[in-house]
Amino acid sequence: MALRGRITINDNLCKSCELCISVCPEEAIRISDGINYKGYHPAEFIKDMCRGCALCSIVCPEIAIEVYRER
Ligand code: SF4
Ligand code: SF4
Repeated sequence: MALRGRITINDNLCKSCELCISVCPEEAIRISDGINYKGYHPAEFIKDMCRGCALCSIVCPEIAIEVYRER
């Protein structure tokens, strides 16, 4: 069975740099319409297609993303 995963994004740590979006192989992250307390539109997880690769978490300069892997 393929490795699957999911992520959580801490809205208030996000600075909307979009690095996580640029590296996600599943296009599972986008910029949300909401605004966090710093005034940024935070990234959000949009699909149940995460493979748990953790690239988004590795590149995030704010350490805002946690990855959970499921088998
Ligand atoms: S862990 Fe990988 S597949 Fe999942 S959202 Fe992050 S970059 Fe995309
Ligand atoms: S890489 Fe981190 S700070 Fe940048 S948009 Fe994604 S969650 Fe936000």
